Amino acid sequence: MDFQEPEHITMIRDTVRRFVEAEMPRDAARKWDRENTFPRDIFDKLVALGLTGLTIDEEYGGSGRDIPATMVVIEELSRRSLAVSVPYIMSTCYAGMNLGECASEEQKRDLLPKVVAGEILFAYGWTEPDVGADLASVKTTAVRDGDELVINGSKRFCSGAAISDYIYALVRTGPADERYKNLSIVLIPPTTEGVSITGIDCMGMKGAATTDVSFSDVRVPAANIIGGEDGWNRGWDFIVGSGLDVEKLEVAAIALGLASAAFDDSWQYVQERKQFGKSVGSYQSTRHMLADMRTSLHSCRLMMMHAAWLAQQNKPCRLETSMTKLHICEAGKKIALDAQTILGAYGYAKDYDVERYVRDSLLMPIIGGSAAIQRNNITNWMNLPKK
Ligand SMILES: Cc1cc2nc3c(=O)[nH]c(=O)nc-3n(C[C@H](O)[C@H](O)[C@H](O)COP(=O)(O)OP(=O)(O)OC[C@H]3O[C@@H](n4cnc5c(N)ncnc54)[C@H](O)[C@@H]3O)c2cc1C
Repeated sequence: MDFQEPEHITMIRDTVRRFVEAEMPRDAARKWDRENTFPRDIFDKLVALGLTGLTIDEEYGGSGRDIPATMVVIEELSRRSLAVSVPYIMSTCYAGMNLGECASEEQKRDLLPKVVAGEILFAYGWTEPDVGADLASVKTTAVRDGDELVINGSKRFCSGAAISDYIYALVRTGPADERYKNLSIVLIPPTTEGVSITGIDCMGMKGAATTDVSFSDVRVPAANIIGGEDGWNRGWDFIVGSGLDVEKLEVAAIALGLASAAFDDSWQYVQERKQFGKSVGSYQSTRHMLADMRTSLHSCRLMMMHAAWLAQQNKPCRLETSMTKLHICEAGKKIALDAQTILGAYGYAKDYDVERYVRDSLLMPIIGGSAAIQRNNITNWMNLPKK
């Protein structure tokens, strides 16, 4: 058994840390959060480091599928700002990973090199006004009309639709009663006539702002069906394929980055802040909290390493990825809230980053399959009798 982080991953971690310090100072991260903006120029500089090819095979211009390395990039960027880490996911994972797993050969040859070049971001258009966890019930429809598809319906909480090149939309393409066999995934450019986008004001994950999207007789080429003609009515297979395992880890990696930052800021703060003539880090109340936070972080890190390793080996890992997503997102939320307690009033003030970590951390157990859904899956896969 080897718990050593592979050398190439440590190098990537160091590279991203240097990038964050040079290009993503704390002031800038606060500004992106406050103004809810995506710093495209910073993303373009990140692309120049070659990190958008980490999920893509070499034959399409990438550096070869490397799940553990991808998670490290997400974690390190998320320590500073989700306004960069989430668009990184929208490119490298939502586009790169999904196209690599589900697209037709023609689509891969056309789009994957553009993902590597940082030219393509995907927004996930899955959730709808009446459809949350029960994704197989989506009501947005796509109907064939010759060489085109006509799309009608609406998507909710479609993050980054306004900054993305395609909405990776889950749509109903078959009879309503053929559940799981009546869905396809279609690429819809947000600039297409009939697409309208309005912002949703959420408490966190600023930058890749989330939106309501409606489709009114939107026409796209039938060639935009993911998987080509073979992908028609196979959308559910694509969603529950191994891409879903990695998607759970992407959210967990964000939570891990936020928790690491919350711990580091608390560690710094307790040494600088003095009350009653002593640093607040000398009091048992803060020392014990820091011990629990550090222990929890360690467990999160080990779970992430193990689950990412399983995914990389293409081993079955739905149970491990669900446990990892559940544990890191809930532990990360607690670590951020503990950091806020340690910083006292300053943890509640917007001048301190802990306030943002709390807002962002609260989201992680909700998205990418809620904590309750992960618990359902974990017990189902352990074959616990339901009666
Ligand atoms: C900031 C933000 C960004 C988002 N970005 C995207 C995005 O880019 N693309 C996208 O498609 N979606 C996105 N979402 C939507 C997100 O994925 C959904 O919120 C999530 O799927 C859960 O759906 P819901 O909130 O409608 O909850 P619901 O499914 O309505 O559930 C409500 C509550 O009931 C619980 N529940 C539901 N079903 C069960 C069950 N079977 N067993 C036990 N408990 C259950 C849930 O855990 C939850 O607590 C985003 C959401 C937010 C807030």
